[in-house]
Amino acid sequence: MPSVTVVGAGVAGLTIGFQLARQGYAVTIVEKNEVVGGLGRSWHYGGFHFDVGPHRFHTENPRVAEFIRHILEDEALEIPRKSGVRMFGKFHDWPLRPSILLSMPIRLMFRGARDLIFRESLPGESFEADVVNKYGRTLYEIFFKPYTEKFLFYSPPALHRDWARAGVNRAIIDKRASADNLWTLLKNTLLPKPVETTFLYPPTGVGRFSERAAERIERMGGRIVLGRGVTALERGQRRITAVHIADERIACDNIVWTAPLTVINRYLDIAGVDLEYLSTVFYNLELSKPVKLDYQWTYYGGDEIFSRVSAPTVFAATMAPPGKSGLCIEFTCREGDERWQNAERYTGAMINDLVRTGTIDSPSDVEAVHIERVPFTYPIYKLNYLGEIQKNLRALARYGNLLLAGRCGRFWYNNMDHSIGQGLTMADKILRGEVLSEIDTADREFWATEEDGGVPSREEEIAEPLEETQAT
Ligand SMILES: Cc1cc2nc3c(=O)[nH]c(=O)nc-3n(C[C@H](O)[C@H](O)[C@H](O)COP(=O)(O)OP(=O)(O)OC[C@H]3O[C@@H](n4cnc5c(N)ncnc54)[C@H](O)[C@@H]3O)c2cc1C
Repeated sequence: MPSVTVVGAGVAGLTIGFQLARQGYAVTIVEKNEVVGGLGRSWHYGGFHFDVGPHRFHTENPRVAEFIRHILEDEALEIPRKSGVRMFGKFHDWPLRPSILLSMPIRLMFRGARDLIFRESLPGESFEADVVNKYGRTLYEIFFKPYTEKFLFYSPPALHRDWARAGVNRAIIDKRASADNLWTLLKNTLLPKPVETTFLYPPTGVGRFSERAAERIERMGGRIVLGRGVTALERGQRRITAVHIADERIACDNIVWTAPLTVINRYLDIAGVDLEYLSTVFYNLELSKPVKLDYQWTYYGGDEIFSRVSAPTVFAATMAPPGKSGLCIEFTCREGDERWQNAERYTGAMINDLVRTGTIDSPSDVEAVHIERVPFTYPIYKLNYLGEIQKNLRALARYGNLLLAGRCGRFWYNNMDHSIGQGLTMADKILRGEVLSEIDTADREFWATEEDGGVPSREEEIAEPLEETQAT
């Protein structure tokens, strides 16, 4: 059987590794972190468990759903979604409910109504044009613009509209209460459809999926190397022949790369590609009492220092010791910048804003703070990103045994289910012996979002039952 080396033990790499290992392939997964899971990992501090911000398993793809349940088995709790937003100095359910209208200053209500009548039609492909044309300038100015600037440090005119399509439509606005324009948003606000989205969640954090998948890959004979990232790639004429991790050389028949594109570019001497990732500092707070808000996560659109706060115990009570709780604050930055380096200095400001917004009662509620720095949390879709991806793919196309996968490897603003779905279909291709390199034929589908149909969901692609073979 041929060997496959997978770089990155996030959900994409583990799914591919799992599918190939169960068919007897020699699988080696190399991960630079000490634990598996990538962005879908969990941190454990005694009885407190935290994910990398809010993480939930939600999919409408039956094959992906079956795979997630197969891995989690009895650790899959089904939970209703409860998310919120803080606007106009108050907390509101998200998707929006009629109560938001009562909190809006009269002046803004009139401006919003005027937007409905006099629709703007900004030209171009920017995030600004997309949001203003759909939701009107008022909503853009009071929420989307400041939230985006706070989150990304880019102004919406400098971003591509795909940022709105992947981010706003999927992550913020619930699909079943979808709002394609201001009229629908208003209609859904006044006459909200019952949104009963549920999702799967393990009792001690989303990282259980990866931990369980990794255990089973190893039982099937796969090798998972932790705490040693790739430090160099060895190349032949049109192939990558080996990966180097610290003091070891691992020869490759085939290589699946799920780490960031900018990292592989460095190892293959590809320069002049303008692709950028956002990074995030997570402040995981242990609280001495239960949380006040019944939201799994809340977006903060005002002048608070952070953009989103999640509450693990609203996902599952088992995420903290009895009577206690936790809060995870997201503080976006660039790897190595001032925020990243001096994150500890911002702790006081974080806690002050939590008190000021009524998220907690007092600083004394906070018993401990764990600061975690995570690079490459989001690919940033700047206006030029499509051209830059094409340029990058052309440079990588010469390596015939290289496949790119996952959120970082495909510069893809996606969710775990997308990475898992892609891992399943990519493993199918490898098993069918199809030409490995699809890079040279790359087109929109390469990085496509769910809405583009880029994530396979066809019933006929459902592979054979999920059997595993024990390694001897
Ligand atoms: C704050 C936040 C909230 C999110 N919420 C949700 C949610 O609610 N639901 C959902 O489905 N998705 C959510 N997502 C998205 C989800 O986390 C990702 O889609 C998914 O985890 C991506 O998995 P992946 O395997 O493709 O990539 P990654 O998890 O990024 O895996 C890549 C791996 O490569 C490793 N790596 C990097 N460099 C090297 C190297 N040199 N050598 C070896 N290994 C290397 C990394 O350490 C990492 O483990 C969220 C993401 C963020 C940031």
